[in-house]
Amino acid sequence: MNKEKIEQIQKDAEEALKKAQTSQQLYDTKVLFLGKNGSLSTLMKDMKNLSAEDRPKFGQWVNETKSALESLYETLEKKIKTKELGEQLDNERLDMTLPGPFKPLGAQHLVDKVMDEMIAIFARLGFSVRVGPMIEKDYYNFEALNIPKDHPARDEQDTFYIDSEHVLRTQTSPIQIHTMKIEKPPLKIIGPGAVFRCDYDISHLPMFHQIEGLYVDKKVSMAELKGTMAYFNREFFGADVKTRFRPSFFPFTEPSAEVDASCALCSGKGCRMCKFSGWIEMGGCGLVHPNVLKAAGLSPEEWQGFAFGMGVERMATVKYGIEDIRLFIENDVRFLGQF
Ligand SMILES: [Zn+2]
Repeated sequence: MNKEKIEQIQKDAEEALKKAQTSQQLYDTKVLFLGKNGSLSTLMKDMKNLSAEDRPKFGQWVNETKSALESLYETLEKKIKTKELGEQLDNERLDMTLPGPFKPLGAQHLVDKVMDEMIAIFARLGFSVRVGPMIEKDYYNFEALNIPKDHPARDEQDTFYIDSEHVLRTQTSPIQIHTMKIEKPPLKIIGPGAVFRCDYDISHLPMFHQIEGLYVDKKVSMAELKGTMAYFNREFFGADVKTRFRPSFFPFTEPSAEVDASCALCSGKGCRMCKFSGWIEMGGCGLVHPNVLKAAGLSPEEWQGFAFGMGVERMATVKYGIEDIRLFIENDVRFLGQF
């Protein structure tokens, strides 16, 4: 029986445990001495060579050494784990002064931008904004605007029908009727919004935007309408731009006119944008037809009005020299980013 052998193992184990720098090293050292195939376990196997009276004493020594080493291990483990946690927290500390990741910002769509610009010009003349539903009763989109069921104007506006009574509005003009039915004149409103027609080519989209204008008062003249349109053209294109009216026909106005602005691109000399005419078509307008006033519950003897309508995409193509209207809905960032 060799007590010195046990004491040597204990001494070696204590030294090795104290040298460990990490919890993994500490654990590996423990296994080396106390594990199933460790030095102490190997020593225990020698027990069978001992005499019967020596065995208990030997077992006691080994067990005492074992528990002494176990408790040293626990003390050291606690110390190393605390140190390691501190290091981990130091390494993972967030640096609040670092700049955040770059996120590119989107921009307003050109059509939306032009619409805002148009609204702002009319707002300076005292017009305020009204809106209406995109799904309209046939009555508001057509009949109240003096376009009865058999009227040829219905064929011109390739309409999306939802059922026999409802359509996707083909124009913003129904906003006029809604407003006149609800509010008392004098009225000075614009109605911007999306409209829908079954049409798609280089200059037509199935969904596009219009701005409708309506002024109702006791006395309203064509001269005031022309003044309003001329003011808009000057504000939108520039101070030198001229405005002209050409006689036209619309079911909901009488008399009716097409509004032209002199081409700002070529100063009226003629270019591709104005199709070499020197003039840009802006939209339609006229004095509100007595039947429309009546449909909205106003007496044509008491009230007069003017109305106008313009396409927003059309205004954007003219102002920014865009030749294909379909670019607006293709969502190509290279195109949209230019504005
Ligand atoms: Zn031109």
